[in-house]
Amino acid sequence: MAIQSIRLFGDPVLRTPAAPVVDFDKELRKLVKDLTDTMMDAPGAGLAAPQIGVGLRVFTYYVDDRLGHLINPDLDLSADLDEEGEEGCLSFPGLSFPTPRAIRAVAKGFDMHGEPVTIEGSDLMARCLQHETDHLDGILFIDRMDPKQRKLAMKAVREAEWSGLAAPTVRFSPHATGGRAL
Ligand SMILES: [Zn+2]
Repeated sequence: MAIQSIRLFGDPVLRTPAAPVVDFDKELRKLVKDLTDTMMDAPGAGLAAPQIGVGLRVFTYYVDDRLGHLINPDLDLSADLDEEGEEGCLSFPGLSFPTPRAIRAVAKGFDMHGEPVTIEGSDLMARCLQHETDHLDGILFIDRMDPKQRKLAMKAVREAEWSGLAAPTVRFSPHATGGRAL
């Protein structure tokens, strides 16, 4: 097990676009293992490499008993949206908010051995694929909310116990919420 610290909102790494993976080597396989272990420990439904301070286009997911990872993802989204679905993020501990997302998504990319992979998902899986791919572009779920909802979310962020504590070494226990952390 190699559980890493999860970076919190306010850490600049979460706003930095990640670089495509070029070398499908032993280091990459270790990164996938670290992401998987850290996500399962949190526990979360998804985790992107920037959330553990690594600027590479890699994420892991654990949705509906499907555990996996994707490298250099490219997304194709349905036009129809789920406007009201609640979404959380491991970099915003204990908080979840309605966040509009496409209902269906197809993600194409690679596995850690460099083999092409296609993941198709709807509902939570589609939401996860969009949320994690956004992390690789430095985009956070608050950016996807409508302005009114974002204002409420930022108020909750400012009032959260972890607010302003974006030091890389800080970790928190997951709080009981109805939301799903990604
Ligand atoms: Zn997240």
